[in-house]
Amino acid sequence: MVIGAGHNGLVAATLLARAGWSVEVLERAPVASGAVGSDTTVRGYVHDWGSAFYGVLHASPVLRELGLDRRVSWAHTSTPVSAVWDPDQPAGVLRRSAEQTAAGLGADGPAWLELFAWWQRLGRPLFDAVLGPVGAPLPLLRAARGLSGVREALSTVRTMLEPVEAFTSQRFSTDAARLLLAGNATHADVGIDAAGSTPPALLLAMAAQEHGMPVPVGGASVLAAALVEAAEEAGVVVRTSTPVARVVVRGGRAVGVVTDAGEGIAVRRAVVADVAPHVLARDLVGEQHLPGEWLASLRRHRWTSGYFRLDVDLDGPAPWRDERLADSVVVHVSGDLDEMAMSQAQVRRQRLPDLPQLILGQQDRADPTRVPAGAASLWVECHCPARPVDEPEDWEQRFADRMIDRLEVHAPGLRSRIVDTTVVSPLDLQRRDPNLVGGDVGGGSAAPDQLLVFRPVAGWSSYRLPVAGLWMCGAASHPGGGVHGLCGRNAARAVLRAARLRV
Ligand SMILES: Cc1cc2nc3c(=O)[nH]c(=O)nc-3n(C[C@H](O)[C@H](O)[C@H](O)COP(=O)(O)OP(=O)(O)OC[C@H]3O[C@@H](n4cnc5c(N)ncnc54)[C@H](O)[C@@H]3O)c2cc1C
Repeated sequence: MVIGAGHNGLVAATLLARAGWSVEVLERAPVASGAVGSDTTVRGYVHDWGSAFYGVLHASPVLRELGLDRRVSWAHTSTPVSAVWDPDQPAGVLRRSAEQTAAGLGADGPAWLELFAWWQRLGRPLFDAVLGPVGAPLPLLRAARGLSGVREALSTVRTMLEPVEAFTSQRFSTDAARLLLAGNATHADVGIDAAGSTPPALLLAMAAQEHGMPVPVGGASVLAAALVEAAEEAGVVVRTSTPVARVVVRGGRAVGVVTDAGEGIAVRRAVVADVAPHVLARDLVGEQHLPGEWLASLRRHRWTSGYFRLDVDLDGPAPWRDERLADSVVVHVSGDLDEMAMSQAQVRRQRLPDLPQLILGQQDRADPTRVPAGAASLWVECHCPARPVDEPEDWEQRFADRMIDRLEVHAPGLRSRIVDTTVVSPLDLQRRDPNLVGGDVGGGSAAPDQLLVFRPVAGWSSYRLPVAGLWMCGAASHPGGGVHGLCGRNAARAVLRAARLRV
């Protein structure tokens, strides 16, 4: 039994079913796949309401294992990612090949090529090892083969702890290259001046350099449908509009679930939950069934700021000053490194940022089926506290205006092309999917004290919960947020191993 048909729940269910288990997935929403989905407006614009970019999925073994490479038609442009900060400076632009990217980075071209060569030799196998089950020896040994010696091992560990501001400033001399890399850190919640901000920036930038920024033709719902198709093909039964109210625990073991409608379903082997762990513990399991020490440790799991989103329908493409942004799937609209750090600090202090750091998507440039002929759309998001302090009632509309003002600097005349704008606050996201606590899209902070053996509870990174037969597989577990399916994959493998060993 799997609770929650987020992509991690579906991946876990598929792998368990392929191992011969009889698996049912119960999903509260009317549509499966959690924060992988899209809506179509009455005017015919398709908007991804949650995740939008799948470079990391393309770096994950789950893509091929579930046949998502062939079940979905993936669209690209020649420019996966770019970064703008000063409207009078040329943008930093990442092209489909490292050589093309380097050619556009002037003096920093050789350093970009060197970084990508490092990624191919050592970085990628290292991330593969780190994102797999914690402590699994074989992937670590494979990664270690790329090391030239102990000094490089130490230097690599240091890089993983380094603030990305330091990493990128030392490596590159131009703002274009620095921001092209550091802009990727805005997807995680770790400040660019804080320890541990280099790994997410490196992973996202290098995955984009290696795989581009593929988007599903037709919208994220097409990927959602493909995930369900893979599960059903393996024999999984997916039931939507079926919220689970309770996990039944008897004699210290999870033996079944009860739905909101009062239906009781017995479970023979395991309950695997794609549910935020504090909700699982408090509402579904009941804290009386869980050890106090484990609960105390779980309370230390920090959720982070939410995402504030705009879906902007345009009557034609955005009028970028730098024309190279015309087909960039992702545009990071930031300030310089100083402004980025200050803006992130404001959000951490529960304040609306004066200069929002925008992550902008132009999926329709790769996939024109998402907009009416000749039209265009923007998918815009930025970190934002769920309940900002010292703001009036109408803060959402005012903040949305601030975001558009920021875009107008880089695309003068943008406002006159807007046909419609939908504003989505962090709490709107949580209402749509309760796993997005306060609009946190990554299942809790990705700071180093919440990763690996610490995620979600120190010493409980193996997907087990302290109730026999109960497991977790959502983004709050290792290795965390993003559409890569690795939480679900690792969890399914752990469940199968435990069943084999009868532990
Ligand atoms: C706005 C936004 C933008 C993002 N952008 C990207 C991106 O571009 N690229 C990327 O890789 N990632 C992105 N992410 C992050 C990514 O979408 C998430 O990390 C990922 O979807 C988490 O998957 P999951 O399976 O762990 O959980 P979820 O997707 O949250 O799914 C959990 C499911 O469980 C269900 N559920 C919860 N409780 C119950 C219950 N009691 N009974 C039954 N069902 C229940 C929920 O309804 C939901 O369907 C984004 C997320 C958001 C919201």
